[in-house]
Amino acid sequence: MKSIKFTAVGDIMLCRSVGDFIEKYGPQFPFETIKDQFAGSDIIFGNLECSISERGFPSKYWPAHMNFRAHPKVVRGLKEAGFNVLSLANNHVSNYGEDALLDTIRLLQSNGISHVGAGASAHEAYAPLILNQNNLRIAILAYSTILNGSRIAKNEKSGIAQFSLKKALRSIKAAREKADLVVVSMHWGIDYETTPVPQHMECARQMIDAGAVLIIGHHPHVIQPIERYMNGLIIYSLGNFVFDDSLEGTDISLMFNFTLSDEGIEKYEIIPLEKNEYHQPCVVEGRKRKKILLDKTEIENSESMNTVAFAREMNGKFVLLNLKLSLKERSLYHLKNFDIKTFFSALPYIIWRLLERMVLQYIG
Ligand SMILES: [Zn+2]
Repeated sequence: MKSIKFTAVGDIMLCRSVGDFIEKYGPQFPFETIKDQFAGSDIIFGNLECSISERGFPSKYWPAHMNFRAHPKVVRGLKEAGFNVLSLANNHVSNYGEDALLDTIRLLQSNGISHVGAGASAHEAYAPLILNQNNLRIAILAYSTILNGSRIAKNEKSGIAQFSLKKALRSIKAAREKADLVVVSMHWGIDYETTPVPQHMECARQMIDAGAVLIIGHHPHVIQPIERYMNGLIIYSLGNFVFDDSLEGTDISLMFNFTLSDEGIEKYEIIPLEKNEYHQPCVVEGRKRKKILLDKTEIENSESMNTVAFAREMNGKFVLLNLKLSLKERSLYHLKNFDIKTFFSALPYIIWRLLERMVLQYIG
């Protein structure tokens, strides 16, 4: 039986304070604590959440510190760590516009790192990456539901691949014709939220039904549960692999080591990681490891989570979280994240929470 080892990690951001450490200690520095764990893997996959370039201009959508661009030397670190596939379908790779995005793609290509989910045209951005490893053909597709002013690929225009369920299902079916296995990388979810969005859970299951075997989610900066569905596995959020976030929970992430065959997922191991003060991911051992694995409860009874009430609560949390962030950051850019429909569907939850607070205050 043909089989390969496939490793997946979460968001990789190589500028800001991570960039400062790279400047001081070299491009390999962010991965020094972890690269032994990659030994023996045929495919090492991650989500590159920044551009790599010296060109371009920061997007006006974000405050300055939220536009991510790393120095071209960082690509050496990625290469030497062993990364050979990176998803670019996310809300930060195009922060510095077309030149920086195309530089990123060129730099990865010239260093033997394949990319998926962005390209010089729509055709390139939405095309599956098909790899032939040990005679096993594996197709990888990558999409982002998070846009935040991103450059979206359209016809001959460069950019990232925006998620549309209909198109994704079609692409998965087509990729299944050309490959033994289909893996989908999804940049989705709500920042700092430890539960997946119900609509995304539904999409993930439909993608497995269409022929994908593995859905790899990232973006929320914290870890979320995994779900076994039919013959597939859905990882809702891997968390930050290399990032300089400091909010609660953002220091923990998950790394998955899969053995994949033409039959699907043979086995997998979950390796909890915790970042140190230098933003390097380190393997968590002992009691803490057990606790993370236990807390990261698998969604067993998926149906019960997929109720209208749950959806409303999640939307409500989304609205409240965005309001909180907007007030905290004294900017309105978080408010752009939700539409009016979401707001109204969340209203009952918000009213409920306000009433709850008033009653508690009255009693207290
Ligand atoms: Zn993101």
